[in-house]
Amino acid sequence: MIKKKLGIIGGGQLGMFICQAAKNFGIHTTVFSTTEKFSAKEFCDNFIIGKFSNEKKIKEFIESSNFFTVETENIPLSLLEKINEKKKIFPSSNVIKIAQNRLREKRFLNSIPGVETAKFFPINNFGDLSLRLREFKFKAIIKSCEFGYDGKNQFLVTKENLSNFETMNLKNFVIEEFLDFKKEISVIVSKAKENTITYPPVENLHRDSILKETKYPANLNNNLIKTSLAIANKIAEKIGLNGILAVEMFILKNNNVLVNEIAPRPHNSGHWTLDACKYSQYDNLILSIFESLVKEPSPQKSCKMVNLIGEDFNNFANLKKKYKCYDYFKDEIRPKRKMGHYIIF
Ligand code: AMP
Repeated sequence: MIKKKLGIIGGGQLGMFICQAAKNFGIHTTVFSTTEKFSAKEFCDNFIIGKFSNEKKIKEFIESSNFFTVETENIPLSLLEKINEKKKIFPSSNVIKIAQNRLREKRFLNSIPGVETAKFFPINNFGDLSLRLREFKFKAIIKSCEFGYDGKNQFLVTKENLSNFETMNLKNFVIEEFLDFKKEISVIVSKAKENTITYPPVENLHRDSILKETKYPANLNNNLIKTSLAIANKIAEKIGLNGILAVEMFILKNNNVLVNEIAPRPHNSGHWTLDACKYSQYDNLILSIFESLVKEPSPQKSCKMVNLIGEDFNNFANLKKKYKCYDYFKDEIRPKRKMGHYIIF
């Protein structure tokens, strides 16, 4: 029998959880990491450390497995396409291509009937910013189109601080209206050859633009639950999903639902599924790759997931006495770095 082998690009905590789920299904994992120390190191069967530009190592990685997945969308497209030439990647390189560029992503999302984002414009320089800021009544958020996550390369711009951006390189940014939203939620969809499943919406709380807490179930009325699930399903359908996709949404004060962004991988707001669902987001990613059916998540209990960010991690030993805690085995504490999480039932 040919051993089922999965290549994972990225060895952070998401890669680590993918490796653990893969092991439960008897699947061999090879992680490609660009750093020497990484969370998944002790959990994968094999790893390759190198730069994405190292052709020899990439060739070795492509030969290591039959199927591939990612733990981040920030991967050079040329590498994804190289993998796609010979092997299958979940989600496909086209899905990742859309998700890795905010402008492409927003245009794609708004092309789907019934799906909307905040109003936005591409900007490339300070002149564009000043012009568009006026249209957004002097309060807007600017975000770099690529390589922005956890609030990185993202700024609130107002009349008062506009001049701070005069010397900044604003090439390939988007400006979007500042939303005075009621809640942030997310829905995770997983699709295999023969079926699609969705995880119920969860409520997300951010601190300094970084996810701090996820609560299941989200406190939403039935209409909003239905709407958020329908939006996630429409996106999965239109994008031709194979694998897993997280959809982050804003609920406005008038109960309109706008999509913030999509992530073509397991999501931080889905960590709770490890402890409170029959099948976690990581299980379903593995099933979507190796089986024809994904499984209903079947949540068993309500819970809250709390991220340990930077110095929060100093409290790990104490928290461990009370809660189910997860250590991401990071080499050092850094501000804004996700170091671990815990679950409160
Ligand atoms: P993002 O990197 O786009 O996920 O943004 C990180 C966080 O910044 C979001 O989860 C929100 O809390 C906040 N944020 C992003 N876009 C907006 C917006 N247009 N209006 C208000 N807050 C936003």
